[in-house]
Amino acid sequence: MIHERHRFGQYTGQWTLGLPDDELLPPTAVLTDLIARAHEVRRRAHVPVSGFRVGSALLAGSGRIFSGCNVEASNGTSICAERAALVAAVAEGENAFSAVASVADTPAPLAPCGQCRQHLSDFAPSMVVVMLTTRSSQYELARMSDLFPRPNFKGRQ
Ligand SMILES: [Zn+2]
Repeated sequence: MIHERHRFGQYTGQWTLGLPDDELLPPTAVLTDLIARAHEVRRRAHVPVSGFRVGSALLAGSGRIFSGCNVEASNGTSICAERAALVAAVAEGENAFSAVASVADTPAPLAPCGQCRQHLSDFAPSMVVVMLTTRSSQYELARMSDLFPRPNFKGRQ
């Protein structure tokens, strides 16, 4: 089911959620940089088992961008690109995030997996999620709270 708050489109140089809280979107230049970083890091994915490359870039509250790619072990276990970016950011002292972009060679724009949604939502439940595919300029935008409306826990227990 496609959530009504999702926005699909063809990238034309201007990003918009078309939502009342659009003013909370990072500036277009920042989102464009975020997306470029996701594409760039995807090339460094280590995927000896699946061959499925994912790149992700995370915009921290400080304005810094952290990128991550998926890394597989020979037994098929893996670390997702989104969580790789998150771990790198947290290790550098970041704990607030406003947007994440993910890209893969998929028929439709790639959405973060459930485990990554939980991790990202714990830090930034209303962050903007930019979903992309290498196959076209089609994209999908959503708030994390719409992709992941009911986290396992909310904040520290
Ligand atoms: Zn994931």
